Amino acid sequence: KLSKRLEKVAGYVPPETNVFADIGSDHAYLPCYVCLTHSSVKAIAGEVNVGPLEAAINQVKKYDLSNRIDVRLGNGLEVINPGEVDCIVIAGMGGTLITSILENGLSKLSSIKRLVLQPNIDAQSIREFAVKHQYEIIEEEILDEDGYIYEILVLESSSKTIHYSSKELYLGPILLQTKGEVFIRKWSGVLHKKERIIQQMKQSSNVQASKLNEFIQQTQWIKEEIS
Ligand code: SAM
Repeated sequence: KLSKRLEKVAGYVPPETNVFADIGSDHAYLPCYVCLTHSSVKAIAGEVNVGPLEAAINQVKKYDLSNRIDVRLGNGLEVINPGEVDCIVIAGMGGTLITSILENGLSKLSSIKRLVLQPNIDAQSIREFAVKHQYEIIEEEILDEDGYIYEILVLESSSKTIHYSSKELYLGPILLQTKGEVFIRKWSGVLHKKERIIQQMKQSSNVQASKLNEFIQQTQWIKEEIS
C-alpha cells in the first residue's frame, strides 16, 4: 500500500497524462501506483543511485509494468529526452535539491505542462523557482504522516507574469488561503523555535543584523496568520 504522502502526490498526476517522469523514484512505488490506476499513462522512473534503481526495476517487474514504465539510471532530468514527457514528479527530497534538479535541467522543461513537487523542507526555494521561471502555483497541500509534515506544490507554466509577496513565498500563497490545522501546527512550531533563536541572537555579541531582521520579519508573518 502506498503512503498517504505518495498517494496525495500521485493524485496530482493528471489521468490524461501521456508520459510522466518520476525523478528520484527509489522503489518506483509512485509510477507503479499511477500506471495501475490509469491504464493509458506511461512513466519514466529516474534514479541516480544503483541500489534504488534495482529496487525500482524489481518493483516494475513485479507488477508486470515493464512495457509502460522505463527505469533509467541518471542524474536529475538527464534521464528524459526533450519533449518526451508532459509532467514531472519530484518527491521526498529537500526543496533546494528539487530546485537544483530543475535548474540543471531547464532545457527539458519547455514541453512540460505540470510539475508535481513534494519538498520535505524548504518549500520556499520552489516558490522562488516558480517566480523566476514563470510557473503558476496552482495547488498547495500540507499533510502530516507519522509525525512528519510534508508539503506538495503543483506548478504549471504560465504566460502571465507571476508574482508572489515575500510572505507568500515563505508561507505559501494557497496554504495561506486555506490555513488548515496542519498548517497552523507546523507554523506554531516554527514560531516557537524562531522566537528562541531570536532571543539567543539578541544576547550574542556577533549577530548578523540582516539575519536577525529576517527572523523577526518571519515571526511577524507567522503571528499575523496563526493567531
Ligand atoms: N521519490 C520517492 C519518495 O518520495 O518516496 C523517494 C524519495 S528518496 C528520499 C530520494 C531518492 O532520490 C533516492 O532514491 C535518491 O537516490 C534519489 N536521488 C537523489 N538525488 C537525485 C538526483 N539528482 N537524480 C535522481 N535521483 C536522485
